[in-house]
Amino acid sequence: MNRVLVLGGGQLGLMMAEAAARLGLVVDRYDPERAVLLPGTSDLAVPITWEECLERYPVITVEREAFPDTGLSARLAASDRCVARGALATIPDRFDQKSMLDRLGIPTAPWRLLDRVEDLAAAVGEFGGVVVKARSGGYDGRGTWIIGEGGDTGAVPAEELAGRAIVEKKIPFRRELSIVGARNPAGETLFYPLTRNWHVDGILRLSLAPAVASAALQPQAEDILRRIMEELDYAGVMAVEFFEQDGELLVNEIAPRVHNSGHWTHEGADWSQFDLHVHALAGVPLHSLNVHGPTAMVNLIGTPFDQAWLQHPGVVHWYGKSVRPGRKVGHANLTADSLDGLRQGLRAWADVLPEGFEKVLDSELSLG
Ligand code: ATP
Ligand code: MG
Ligand code: MG
Repeated sequence: MNRVLVLGGGQLGLMMAEAAARLGLVVDRYDPERAVLLPGTSDLAVPITWEECLERYPVITVEREAFPDTGLSARLAASDRCVARGALATIPDRFDQKSMLDRLGIPTAPWRLLDRVEDLAAAVGEFGGVVVKARSGGYDGRGTWIIGEGGDTGAVPAEELAGRAIVEKKIPFRRELSIVGARNPAGETLFYPLTRNWHVDGILRLSLAPAVASAALQPQAEDILRRIMEELDYAGVMAVEFFEQDGELLVNEIAPRVHNSGHWTHEGADWSQFDLHVHALAGVPLHSLNVHGPTAMVNLIGTPFDQAWLQHPGVVHWYGKSVRPGRKVGHANLTADSLDGLRQGLRAWADVLPEGFEKVLDSELSLG
């Protein structure tokens, strides 16, 4: 089997390396910030330049879209060993990403470029409520400003963003859903069921899979993700975030990698998204996917590890990172026989999690 290199030193690459190790395959990680190679699941850091590192691996994947400005992104986008090269040339800039969706005729929130400061007022006039998004570099709601209908745009640093942002129509969605799927170099594809996601302050708090009442939307979601993966000639796992509005799916954004809303697959499916990603790259034929009962994934955000969690149903995945407000430091998966059982399990978690999680439970836990 080919050794696979994953670029990025975070938890997503580590979870890929763990999945690979269980199958006797090898995924090594390169941390571009520290310029070190992390072999397999080890944290023994070997100093190396990225040029040297890239030379050694026949298959290169990524755990994120943006890299330090060292020429690495451009080099990857040009390398035929990088299975995400098409995605890296298109996805990191929201202008290119939205232009691709429009070109493919895939529904997405209507949008305009924010090139000049006046474009913001024009978009408010056209759309009513708007969402301003930096073209690149944003995540977990950073680089995003949501302004409801009639709201004040004063908080948007429009001068600073002019030429570097887009403005979208604010979508009055019924719910947020995502799909995670894989494509191998032969063009075979495989998909998990649609997942429902709850965000607070731009950060994913809770996912539930399979999303209830989503069977009619599943073929539409699969078709959209398949077309995007084909367009980008992509191999590995990719995710698409959607807004559901009037029974239709609008694409919010594309993540060309394993995705937080797919973390439930660790306990909620026979093969996790990390297994699937490694299989797609290692030439293991894509196989059937058996999904277990309803599964919830709770993000552990800005909180120290608490042994009380272990008294509750569910499996904790802790990333071993330093704890900072708003930082994702782990997640917990709960699987149950029924939605009622899952609801009870989640209530128990609400007692031992910091503020923010109750908001989701109190306002949204119809689990629909
Ligand atoms: P991620 O961490 O998922 O990469 P991000 O920082 O790239 O997030 P988005 O996913 O674009 O940002 O937006 C964050 C959240 O803001 C969305 O999940 C959604 O709740 C809300 N949002 C974004 N765009 C819109 C929109 N056009 N209409 C309504 N809500 C929106
Ligand atoms: Mg994003
Ligand atoms: Mg998002």
